[in-house]
Amino acid sequence: MPTPTFQNTAGAFDAVLCDIDGCLLDEAGGPLNLDRLAVIAQHNAHAKAHHDRPLVTVCTGRPQPFAECICRAIANDLLPCVCENGAWVYDPSVNGYHLDPAITDAHLAAADQLRRWCLSTYAAQGVSSQPGKTASVSLYHRAPDFLETIKPALVEACAQHHWPFRISGTWNYINCDLDHITKATGIQQFLKQTGLDPHRLAGIGDTQSDIAIAQSVKWFGVPANRDPAIDPYATHISKLDQIDAVVEMLGML
Ligand SMILES: [Mg+2]
Repeated sequence: MPTPTFQNTAGAFDAVLCDIDGCLLDEAGGPLNLDRLAVIAQHNAHAKAHHDRPLVTVCTGRPQPFAECICRAIANDLLPCVCENGAWVYDPSVNGYHLDPAITDAHLAAADQLRRWCLSTYAAQGVSSQPGKTASVSLYHRAPDFLETIKPALVEACAQHHWPFRISGTWNYINCDLDHITKATGIQQFLKQTGLDPHRLAGIGDTQSDIAIAQSVKWFGVPANRDPAIDPYATHISKLDQIDAVVEMLGML
């Protein structure tokens, strides 16, 4: 085990793995809440200077460039972040791009084939693929209900073509992730890189893909706008929404 990248000598947690969409910002779009992100940036600056609170990083389904940008916004240039639902771990301290070693060239080729199949089948009906993903596919349509109707066909296409993907969703996207990759496997890679103790990790999330965060950490908080299906996994359910909830929970930790 490497020497832990960061230690909080004054409390129970060294790091907080925070989901992005629905937690730090609104998945549906709109301006970033820069005032609140600045509060988290100040929290992180204080953590790095005094080692008296956990450092906040992100654990997200978003592709690496977006995760890198949010890490910069919250002044996390020390701890790796988990991107693309676990496929990538990006280390901002060394600009390290780390694909999970369990993902092969064949898996990447399958992701590309699945993306092309989805677009050739559904683009005419308004489905698009989120750019920037390399080991997974995220599909968007302006009517989330439409996405629900095509899920069974996606599952069938994956079975037919032997593409090893799990089909799930957030509020506005269908996520197609490799069967053996989740936010939990991403957190395993994070732990290998950082040497942190999983019993000293906290997490924050709002949808079912974040259950994998909850199962990998000691303390798990959710904002009021969460999917109630994740309530059984929560240590704390905030009465506040999104980033207001995150700031409140950092105060508790
Ligand atoms: Mg989310």
